[in-house]
Amino acid sequence: MSSTLTREPAHGTIIEYVQFNCRCKLCEDNWQINSDRYFYMRRSESDPKKVPPDIVADHIATMLEMGFEVAAIADGAGVSRDTVLAVAGGRATRLQRRTADAILALDPSQPIPNHRVPLPIVRAMLDEMRGAGLTLQWIYRTAGISPKFQGNRRRCSWENYVKLRRVYDVLKDAGLIGEGDDGATA
Ligand SMILES: [Zn+2]
Repeated sequence: MSSTLTREPAHGTIIEYVQFNCRCKLCEDNWQINSDRYFYMRRSESDPKKVPPDIVADHIATMLEMGFEVAAIADGAGVSRDTVLAVAGGRATRLQRRTADAILALDPSQPIPNHRVPLPIVRAMLDEMRGAGLTLQWIYRTAGISPKFQGNRRRCSWENYVKLRRVYDVLKDAGLIGEGDDGATA
């Protein structure tokens, strides 16, 4: 089996709605909430190739607050770290549209491959497994990671995330967790 992660649909995000054309309830609802901002960004600039960076700065701030690192955001969006820092710091007055779109397309609920993973993402995964009655001790042992890996840090390593994710995916494939992913819980 490959250790790379296949793409999971990120329901409830603009990217899922716009780029992948998902029209599930989560995506529709999120679109209703966010489309005004999205269109504001798209039409508020006279130069069609450039956009004001405020919404992008908000998105970066959310991700930084969650625990994503600047390098991860830059790599995930395919832009330079300087660009991320300039936008986050309010020093960018205009952004190329494709830069803005690339950053806005990053989904804060999904890790960025080969970068440290914010703990809220890891916790959500652990909570789901614990909700199925599994202990942390069992999860860590099965994943083959130290039970002390979390501590007070804000992130876990990509390597440990992948180990936990493998256990998670096995449980999910077996139908033990992940019910109702598409709002279809009976
Ligand atoms: Zn969807």
